[in-house]
Amino acid sequence: MYPVSLRNVGKTYRLDTVTVPALSGVSIDIRPGRFTVLCGPSGSGKTTLLNMMGCIDRPDAGEILVDGQAVQSMADDALSDFRARRIGFVFQNFNLLPVLTAFENVEYPLVLAAVPLAQRKERVHALLHAVGLADRAGNRPGQLSGGQRQRVAIARALATEPALVLADEPTANLDSQTGAEIIALMRNLQRARGASFVFSSHDPMVLAQADDVVRIRDGRIESIEQRDTSTEVA
Ligand code: ADP
Ligand code: ADP
Repeated sequence: MYPVSLRNVGKTYRLDTVTVPALSGVSIDIRPGRFTVLCGPSGSGKTTLLNMMGCIDRPDAGEILVDGQAVQSMADDALSDFRARRIGFVFQNFNLLPVLTAFENVEYPLVLAAVPLAQRKERVHALLHAVGLADRAGNRPGQLSGGQRQRVAIARALATEPALVLADEPTANLDSQTGAEIIALMRNLQRARGASFVFSSHDPMVLAQADDVVRIRDGRIESIEQRDTSTEVA
């Protein structure tokens, strides 16, 4: 079973009288335990495609299966709940809650998922350790560098142990060295957990790390390259 499959997915944005076709006839199976990169020029539909995969927005045509489950037939509440438990997100602008500490930001999805306190604390500590921020638990995002904020966001995305992690240009707001460190960290976490990660990026450094590369142009899949990379735990 694929962590996410799309069949003939279409999405058009409507602004008053203007319609902007963002995706058309997109069919793809994301392979489990792979690091997949979506690449394409600005405006080609990468963010829209990730939002469809992550059930952040609904398509207006086609079918989306997450873990084999048809998500379009779910009501909004059920879909939010499903998304919160099964899918982790990392955004280019980090999207952390500024009033919460690093610890509380990572803990937040676990509070929503009603994970008991002792288990939450243990998991958050382990995650902050895994992303190299064990000594920053009490800092708020404003007290952290961009790379550290993205590490918090990665820990938060992994908190519920989702099978699918989606990242929209996670290095776009980082300098190249910090970006490289973040990608290496995500690559290691992906391999260690055997989870499926899908990134959008046009950064060659991110592409170099990919197992599978999906090229998108004008809202359509241009090519899918499945590289013969090992998915052994490093
Ligand atoms: P990318 O992430 O590759 O830059 P997007 O998915 O953001 O591409 O955008 C695809 C197309 O949809 C573009 O033409 C863009 O302008 C348009 N678009 C994206 N989001 C919206 C929106 N909320 N409303 C209207 N048009 C949008
Ligand atoms: P990125 O390409 O980095 O993912 P955005 O998602 O912010 O950037 O925007 C992608 C494209 O979608 C841009 O061309 C932007 O102008 C367009 N876009 C995003 N939101 C809207 C919107 N609400 N209305 C119209 N166009 C939008």
